[in-house]
Amino acid sequence: MNAPETIVHDVARHAADFPILSRQVRGRRLAYLDNGATTQKPQAVIDALAGFYQESNANIHRGVHWLSQHSTDLYEQARERVRGLLNAADSQEIVFTAGTTGSINLVAQTWGVQHIGAGDEIIVTGMEHHSNIVPWQLLCERTGATLRPVNVTETGELDMDHFRSLLNGRTRLVAVAHVSNALGTINPVAEITRLAHQAGAHVLIDGAQAVAHQIVDVQALGCDFYAFSGHKIYGPTGTGALYVRASILADMPPWQGGGDMIRTVSFEGTTYAQGPQRFEAGTPNIAGAVVLGEAIEYVRGIGLDRIADHEEALLAEATECMQALPGIRIVGTSPHKAGILSFLVAGIHPHDLGTILDTEGVAIRAGHHCAMPLMSRFGIPGTARASFALYNTSEDIQALVAGVRKAQKLFGVGLDG
Ligand code: PLP
Repeated sequence: MNAPETIVHDVARHAADFPILSRQVRGRRLAYLDNGATTQKPQAVIDALAGFYQESNANIHRGVHWLSQHSTDLYEQARERVRGLLNAADSQEIVFTAGTTGSINLVAQTWGVQHIGAGDEIIVTGMEHHSNIVPWQLLCERTGATLRPVNVTETGELDMDHFRSLLNGRTRLVAVAHVSNALGTINPVAEITRLAHQAGAHVLIDGAQAVAHQIVDVQALGCDFYAFSGHKIYGPTGTGALYVRASILADMPPWQGGGDMIRTVSFEGTTYAQGPQRFEAGTPNIAGAVVLGEAIEYVRGIGLDRIADHEEALLAEATECMQALPGIRIVGTSPHKAGILSFLVAGIHPHDLGTILDTEGVAIRAGHHCAMPLMSRFGIPGTARASFALYNTSEDIQALVAGVRKAQKLFGVGLDG
């Protein structure tokens, strides 16, 4: 068995694949700890983007010429790679979208409009990103349905008794984050899915903070929808995907109309494409999808199980180091956490802390993390958040800790430690 140090060292040697990590920021070595917001890109992904335009660019699904067929093959190969990442049963269950936000809005505006009406209920949780709240609020406003949030406990976990009590015959959908972007909590999504299905509800999982950090298996989870963003898994911005169980997708009405999503068009009536193409109107982000496929290959080549171990070790080390400092409050102390550390430093506003850390070359996120209801739950305006990726090292953690110490000295707080 590997010692944690060995795992950390072994995976982090891939930091050399990421050119941006070798640049200096404000004259300092960059410690990039804002991976929850977006991840950096390995050379293989950067090259794949240029390579697509140099070698393969043409519009897809339309041309009879060689290049169009080649481009179509690459696009469909990328769909297959997303299928593999999520272990979906069929690549026809994968819709390319602009990201998690795009995926969730698609479900709300198609399946949601079709299946949710006045008096129905949608369960979300108190720790959702705004992307998994606002689309449902818009749907509720339109349909007369009601949104029911699950309470979050003091340790930053879902109150499962409260969840069970919210489930009832009117519940149509449960929409839940796999991993909380603000707390790092890994939610019991398999159990939630099981309970929701027992109550006759569908389940959407927001996997934005999960897919780059652990193995995801939508068949094992049993969920109906699974959403994620390409840029959080070392791929391009503006890319992502939505898994929809085949039997549900077959019945979902189209959303945006246009080219590629139709079978036939006439003024008497239009028929729609089967499968994911029905939801990919117009020329999609072809290059983005293809390069997302490359990013998936890159990550799977390293191994998501190894990445998960590495990030777990980093989280444990960072938690221990931060707890050793005076005046630190960690927000989100579940024993089931991914590599996200949210914290407060007594006497220093998170934004001030973020600014001081920036002068040290340490990039963290400070604020509400697009989870305002969660911040209200804890009675705080925001937190400072360090979030880890496969390329982070103990050196990054030491830079974070030294930066926090410097901030405490500047503010004249936490000097007793
Ligand atoms: N859901 C979670 C849990 C997130 O962390 C994020 C982004 O931070 C999103 C949804 C939205 O992702 P995107 O902005 O890529 O659509």
